[in-house]
Amino acid sequence: MRSLEESLFWEIFYRHQAVRSELARLFDVSAATMSRSTAVLLAKHLVVESGGTSSSRGRRPALLQVNPALAYVAGIEIDRDRVTAVITDMTGNLLGRSGVAATASNPVRKTLKDCREAVRAAFADAGRVPGQLARIGVGHTGMLDVENGLCLDWEGAPHWRRVNLRGALRETFDMEITLDDRARAVALAQHLLWPEYRRHRSAIYVQIGTGIGAGIFVNGRMVRGATLAGGEIGHIVIDRNGPLCACGKRGCVEAFASLGATIARVRQALEKGAKTSLRTQVKSPSQLTVEMIVSAARQGDPLAATALSEAGDALGFGVANAVQLLNPSLVVLAGKFANAASDFLLEAVTRAIHSQCFETMSRGLEVRVAPFRKDAGPVGCALLASLDVGAALVQKALFVPPS
Ligand SMILES: [Zn+2]
Repeated sequence: MRSLEESLFWEIFYRHQAVRSELARLFDVSAATMSRSTAVLLAKHLVVESGGTSSSRGRRPALLQVNPALAYVAGIEIDRDRVTAVITDMTGNLLGRSGVAATASNPVRKTLKDCREAVRAAFADAGRVPGQLARIGVGHTGMLDVENGLCLDWEGAPHWRRVNLRGALRETFDMEITLDDRARAVALAQHLLWPEYRRHRSAIYVQIGTGIGAGIFVNGRMVRGATLAGGEIGHIVIDRNGPLCACGKRGCVEAFASLGATIARVRQALEKGAKTSLRTQVKSPSQLTVEMIVSAARQGDPLAATALSEAGDALGFGVANAVQLLNPSLVVLAGKFANAASDFLLEAVTRAIHSQCFETMSRGLEVRVAPFRKDAGPVGCALLASLDVGAALVQKALFVPPS
């Protein structure tokens, strides 16, 4: 069972900053007990304290924060067109970054070389890092078996079938690796680094881009599931006879609502001779972009508007099912498609939630589109490593040998 100190450490980690009185209320303990427990965390240098001043206008309580210097970690985001690396402290403060252009069709060996080069350059960018690297967190956009550290498949990337990615990274860096889904990494960065988001203890962050993934928070903690595979909102089946999905099933949310699926639908209609203003904008249907589709839809083009509304309906269906199940107080839509078509997708998802979910679920629920934030992916990967580093350090610091 977790000790109060261990639970407190994680509460402070996820809140970024906390004051004792709030924590005492949350854990339902007396001020004296809270004071004793936080003193243990401070003495072990797991948390640090700032502020706590008295003035003529009253007393400002001290802020507790996880010790940023507890560890230094790297985050590596392996995306379809780029490998990006960052160096951060324990709490996700960016110290250095770098990126290498790449393609998903590269062999695994080349990608590992790119990872090494990106981390080296991120270190150079950081200048002097005041401690050793404790762990590397890696986020990948392919289909993963996180528990076993495998990349099972990556759409259009034949070299990436059943690759022992965690093992290969561990060998490359001679260091422990936290491998996870890139969507979950982004969700963690969004939840921890945006003050207006992290006050929500139950939230769903949906990434809508080439694929659709999610990070789920329940009672102030990220939920990973029994085999670390939770959050696959893009692969909720909404039509068993629907189009084939990249995962091999039919009719997943992603097969209707991903960026690629939406562009492909419009492209096919163009090729079949549909009437649309988009025809004058591109020489070939292969040049179509989501920005063109959104712009045409805003100007009333029926084909573009239908494509966006079909994507929005499918996405809304999946998100509403997740809301009905998890009862969050915040849903955040993010990613390239969400940013390009924010108004369309926000409206569709909100409508789906109100029509499919109980009023008790939608009551007070905030649905938002996250603004684009550079490095949310790689910083989230570093934060995933911080979760594992934190677990080990807390265990070690708070371990009491049986008497
Ligand atoms: Zn699927």
